[in-house]
Amino acid sequence: MELIKQEVSQERWIDIPEEVFDIYRLWRPSPLFRARRLEKALDTPAKIYYKYEGVSPAGSHKPNTAIPQAYYNMKEGVKRLTTETGAGQWGSSLALACNYFGIECKVYMVKISYQQKPYRRLMMQTWGASVVASPSDQTDAGRRILEKDPNCLGSLGIAISEAVEEAAKRDDTKYALGSVLNHVLIHQSVIGLEAKRQMEMAGDYPDIVIGCVGGGSNFAGLAFPFIQDKMQGKALRAVAVEPAACPTITRGLYAYDFGDTAQMTPLMAMFTLGHDFMPAGIHAGGLRYHGMAPLLSHLVKLGQIEGKAVHQLEVFDAAVKFARSEGIIPAPESAHAIRAAIDEALLAKDAGQQKTILFNLSGHGHFDMVSYDAYFSGKLQDYALPQEEIDRAEAVLKDYPATE
Ligand SMILES: *Cc1c(COP(=O)(O)O)cnc(C)c1O
Repeated sequence: MELIKQEVSQERWIDIPEEVFDIYRLWRPSPLFRARRLEKALDTPAKIYYKYEGVSPAGSHKPNTAIPQAYYNMKEGVKRLTTETGAGQWGSSLALACNYFGIECKVYMVKISYQQKPYRRLMMQTWGASVVASPSDQTDAGRRILEKDPNCLGSLGIAISEAVEEAAKRDDTKYALGSVLNHVLIHQSVIGLEAKRQMEMAGDYPDIVIGCVGGGSNFAGLAFPFIQDKMQGKALRAVAVEPAACPTITRGLYAYDFGDTAQMTPLMAMFTLGHDFMPAGIHAGGLRYHGMAPLLSHLVKLGQIEGKAVHQLEVFDAAVKFARSEGIIPAPESAHAIRAAIDEALLAKDAGQQKTILFNLSGHGHFDMVSYDAYFSGKLQDYALPQEEIDRAEAVLKDYPATE
């Protein structure tokens, strides 16, 4: 109930509970770095800063919301949480959080990731969660999909349907979502609030704030506290970076749509590629979601946020350049933000301009080395979404309530 209250809250400020802070303290405040070696490698006059969220035990920003979600559920007597996970980042974060608060955790993991990422599954199991490959035969939603296509490799939309169905059918179980929703974005704003203080300590302020977007939570977490300044007149660009294979903001429709394939969630006004969208198997699993956070979508409509789509190969190119200058091996998702930051730094160089760039390094890539292997061995390909897929989404959504 507390999370639902936050979802519809009109408050400017919601305090972080002391019990949540106690766990945040294990890795927060997360560091803000100036990427001096990357600047040098690019020979750019631009200053590049990044906020590093890979220092959490799960290796990404996702525990920022998993911890308070598990906490509020525990406070209200919930015994079990179900959820879905794509690349395994959210599932491992919720497994970590449930473990701290004595809650059972069951994770429906998109089948292709379950097969490609056994180490993320083992991480969840180490923290005590049980993990099933989705689509599974444990829910009606899963069985319906398997009947049609026994070899279905799954999608986030399908896995959400399975996790929601199980929570709806059991009294002791609730469902937790790791992105998209308002309360998740609120929890992630700890990133941007810290970054503002840290930029102040560095005596600087960004001209451009950049983040990668799957459901939009790490980007919003960093950018929204800065966009508050922008709404009060500060000059600032906010750039949300997505894969060209899943171009929700740059090519999707702004429409009322479901958050899941089986149409069990409420309708949300958002940028979407359609709830039945089947993303290509690109190696940034966390960015293969059909929708975009309603708050972020709204700000795109208002012109406060720009969308940018990038291709897989240029993303890995940026990831490797970053690893060879700054040392940290980025998650393929985060490397989308690095790509855009490098592009902006190179534009500044061409224009001979001093620019200050801040991006979110949402996680490390230690469990994604198979993707790096595919890149190094020349097996990765670029993939742009065909127009027919956009037309299909349009056909699916044409009878839904109008957004404006
Ligand atoms: C899940 C994930 C993302 C994408 O999710 P958002 O809600 O858009 O932040 C990005 N980076 C990493 C490392 C992730 O695990």
